Parts: sequence; C-alpha cells; structure tokens
Amino acid sequence: MNMEARIRGIGMTSHRTRLRLIERLRSNGIRDESVLQAMVDVPRHCFVDEALASRSYEDCALPIGEGQTISQPYVVALMSELVVNSGYPDQPVKRVLEIGTGSGYQAAVLAELVPEVYTLERIRSLSHKAQRAFNSLRIRNIKSRYADGFDGWSDQGPFDAIIVTAAMETIPDALLAQVKEGGVLIGPVGPQATGQTLSVARCFADKPPRIRQVANVKFVPFLRGCG
Ligand code: SAH
Repeated sequence: MNMEARIRGIGMTSHRTRLRLIERLRSNGIRDESVLQAMVDVPRHCFVDEALASRSYEDCALPIGEGQTISQPYVVALMSELVVNSGYPDQPVKRVLEIGTGSGYQAAVLAELVPEVYTLERIRSLSHKAQRAFNSLRIRNIKSRYADGFDGWSDQGPFDAIIVTAAMETIPDALLAQVKEGGVLIGPVGPQATGQTLSVARCFADKPPRIRQVANVKFVPFLRGCG
C-alpha cells in the first residue's frame, strides 16, 4: 500500500528524513524488512499536531495532548517486530488488539503488517482524533473504539497478539484470557516511577504465561476507567 501517494503536501525533505530514521532504526537493531518498510510508509507526521510535524521523524516520543505521548519510533518498530515474529509458520499473526490507541500511529504501523487491527483508547478526544487520521489515510483494517482497555475487547477476541502501549503494574488476567493458545501479550510491565520492562508473555492453556523480558522502556500509565 502506498500511503505516500495518498497524502498531499509531503515534500522530498520528509521522505529523506524518514529514510534517515529507518537507517537509525536498522543500526539500533530492527531487522525485519516488513517492519522497516511500514515505518517508511506510515506518515508519522499525520499523527502529531502540525506544530510538532517537523520533529516527527526524530527518534523520540512527542506530546499528543491530554498528557499522553506518541511513542518513540524505535519502540514502535521494536513492538511491531515482536508482534510479527510472534507467529508460527502454520499460524501467522492475523488479529491484533492494541490497548492505548493514543495518536493511532502504532495501530497504523501494525495495519501495514497484519490483516486485522483492533485498538482501544480511554480518552475520547484521542480516540476520535486517531479515527480521523485512519479515515484520512484510508486505512480500512483498523477497528477502533473509545473504551477502557482493562477488560480487552471480548466480543472480538481471541487475538493472536495483544499489545499494550501503556505501563502496566501487572498484566491483567482479563487480557491474558483474550490471547489465543500459543499467542502473546506484549507490553511494558513495572512501576511508573522507575520505568518498565518491555515484556512478551506467551500464553498456554492451564499454565502460567512464559515471560520474556526484552528492553527497558518508559511509558505513560495504564489507567482503569475512561478519562
Ligand atoms: N500507541 C500510542 C501511544 C499511546 S500512549 C501511539 O502510537 O500514539 C498510551 C495511551 O494509552 C494513552 O493515550 C492512554 O490514554 C491510553 N490508555 C491508558 N490506559 C488505558 C486503558 N485502560 N484503556 C485504553 N487506553 C488506555
């Protein structure tokens, strides 16, 4: 899908800065070519306010209003790579649930990589803004909803992967219950004050999940209820 062609007003400069970002992601260890391509194709500047657009291809988190942030591109690429690589040859990742739509950028990157993306956001204005970005970019394979993600999205589950983009003190059981047998839940786990560990919990029936710790990260908190 060539999103570039759908958006007007993007000069060569943003394309060049985007390619520079990709080189940086590559040198920081992102290997999956489909993920790198998605990071080139999805226009991050369409998910931040115009005043910050010129900084969209720097590898840093940026404010998106309501005290929330769009994640650093490296973290988006890393989490996307973990999602894509979590499948099996006979069971590729098809349906992914994201908790914490925020700007919608992570969902848009995932939508390039898997057939179906579901995303939940507890702050109404962010959820609506993200939906407008999906519409204007004509991204059709994301279903988004303004709702508390604490209980997941049970009538759409189970999912091959759930990705939580806010810091969890512990992983809610309700979310683990919506991961398919052998699937994964990926997200930052740990206290707000000290930062978190990006963790991959692989789920099996009748057994506790097997947890792998991937990197130290810092996310905004996962909060209960709608804002
Ligand atoms: N994935 C986002 C980054 C999100 S920041 C992006 O690509 O821009 C984390 C988001 O999680 C915030 O918008 C916050 O409001 C949301 N959030 C926190 N707790 C939540 C919950 N219980 N349910 C849904 N969203 C939640």
